[in-house]
Amino acid sequence: MKSDIQIANEAKILPIKNVAEAIGIHEDHLDYYGKHKAKLSASLWQEIKDKEDGKLVLVTAINPTPAGEGKTTTTVGLGQALGLLGEKAIIALREPSLGPCMGIKGGAAGGGYAQVIPMEDINLHFTGDIHAVSIAHNLLSAMLDNHLQQGNELNIDTRHIVWKRVVDMNDRALRNIIVGLGGSMQGVPREDGFMISVASEVMAILCLSNDLKDLKKRLGQIIVAYTRKGDPITAHDLKAEGAMAALLKEAINPNLVQTLENTPAILHGGPFANIAHGCNSVRATKYGLKLADIVVTEAGFGADLGAEKFLDIKCQKAGLNPNAIVLVATIRALKYNGGRNVKELATEDLDALKKGFVNLEKHIENLFHYHVPVIVTLNHFVTDTEAEVAYVKETCEAMGCAFAISNVWEKGGEGGVELANAVLDTLKNRPSDFKTLYDVNDSIKVKINTIATKIYGADRVLYSAKAMKMMKKIEGLQLDKLPICIAKTQYSLSDDPTKLGRPSGFSITVRDLNVSAGAEFIVALTGDVMTMPGLPKVPSAQSIDIDDDGNISGLF
Ligand code: ADP
Ligand code: MG
Repeated sequence: MKSDIQIANEAKILPIKNVAEAIGIHEDHLDYYGKHKAKLSASLWQEIKDKEDGKLVLVTAINPTPAGEGKTTTTVGLGQALGLLGEKAIIALREPSLGPCMGIKGGAAGGGYAQVIPMEDINLHFTGDIHAVSIAHNLLSAMLDNHLQQGNELNIDTRHIVWKRVVDMNDRALRNIIVGLGGSMQGVPREDGFMISVASEVMAILCLSNDLKDLKKRLGQIIVAYTRKGDPITAHDLKAEGAMAALLKEAINPNLVQTLENTPAILHGGPFANIAHGCNSVRATKYGLKLADIVVTEAGFGADLGAEKFLDIKCQKAGLNPNAIVLVATIRALKYNGGRNVKELATEDLDALKKGFVNLEKHIENLFHYHVPVIVTLNHFVTDTEAEVAYVKETCEAMGCAFAISNVWEKGGEGGVELANAVLDTLKNRPSDFKTLYDVNDSIKVKINTIATKIYGADRVLYSAKAMKMMKKIEGLQLDKLPICIAKTQYSLSDDPTKLGRPSGFSITVRDLNVSAGAEFIVALTGDVMTMPGLPKVPSAQSIDIDDDGNISGLF
């Protein structure tokens, strides 16, 4: 089997101008970043904004194993298959962060014969959006520290600063630092720390903003610190939002690339899926809906986190109406959820499969709450057996879901025809009547309780004293009528990564609450949430290389 980068390099890549032309975009609306990448300008929006929207298809998954279960691969492959069937389809995805790329996961542009290209560019810097987010974020940090240095007119409590710095790298040594050492001219000494750039609230804001005006307004709303009296200090108080927005003037425009089979793909924004909402920008999705008949998009992590946030935060805020949901499962992950060890997933085991199926069953039931039709797809691995596939197919169909097997990793678009037909059939014959899970005007407790009991299957929610104090504070600031963004382990429906399958009789513990006043959601933290990952013992970076002619290898 060829490596992802070998397959990517052998693809017949088209000039991006031709890919754009195929979906009716004139060259005047493209800002080129080389031959194979372009940004879609704001002028394009003016031209297309009154067109009718296409259909929106979300790709999500069951609780994954540590390897990832192929959501991106399925998203890309489904787009390729729809293209093969003559449909006007566009894929919308997040931009990969350099942290996981150099760390444990390698590239994040799909896999096998279902990839977006040029994959090495997409994985390494791309069009610089994440760097722009980092620098806009760090400008606010610099202005905050300068404010302290220049006399602290706003009376900021230096022990109550909630705005850290960011860098797009897994660098655990930067998690906790002290800044301002060295004497009176070198700043005010205080504790600080770094997060990975994709965890920045600026990234979440970029992804949820409709336009520059909305972006600037939301940047101004960011809470950076509190005064001794407990009043919030915002980016607007520091007069930072104008310069921050100026630094994001290119980054706010979506990026157009293509798949291995020349399907148009819009890659834009990459917010974390734990402390943020984990899907591509609202602008990317909206451009896609105007330009194509079908937009296929992905939400990070399993459906308990990714789909819930996509539906209750992104769709609710942006007024999007999803038409179908593709729920990806793998035989491997189901057997893992049935108690099998990661190393034993390649052999047939119907008992473990049946035991683990309850995880898929719960995700199907959860998605029914949203009144959007569900199609289950098995991302096929060469080790899956016929008996195992037949069991999953029969059980899903008995639950009233469409079912299709997907071979896109092995065969590209051709391997996704069954899935594409199931999606087309659903779009035609099963109407969606999308409803969010909760009302944003409910209290914080009611909203969290709804997610925890209905989606996770918890009996109740417990709050630490710190979380209760913060809840009162958020209510006092009248910021409680915002959607909830739960940071939780992706490996379990509960907040304990070791509880696999379909856990019951458990409680969810909210350790702390934060308000992302610019992104306009409330973050509820459960378990240990990592905002600055570390590198593993043998990081992927050790195998990435470039030869004398500029050819890159080792990106999977
Ligand atoms: P996710 O988006 O769910 O995190 P990805 O689509 O990025 O998952 O896939 C994770 C990894 O698994 C990638 O390296 C991809 O190439 C690989 N992969 C996906 N589907 C298959 C498959 N059917 N067979 C073998 N490897 C696969
Ligand atoms: Mg993915």
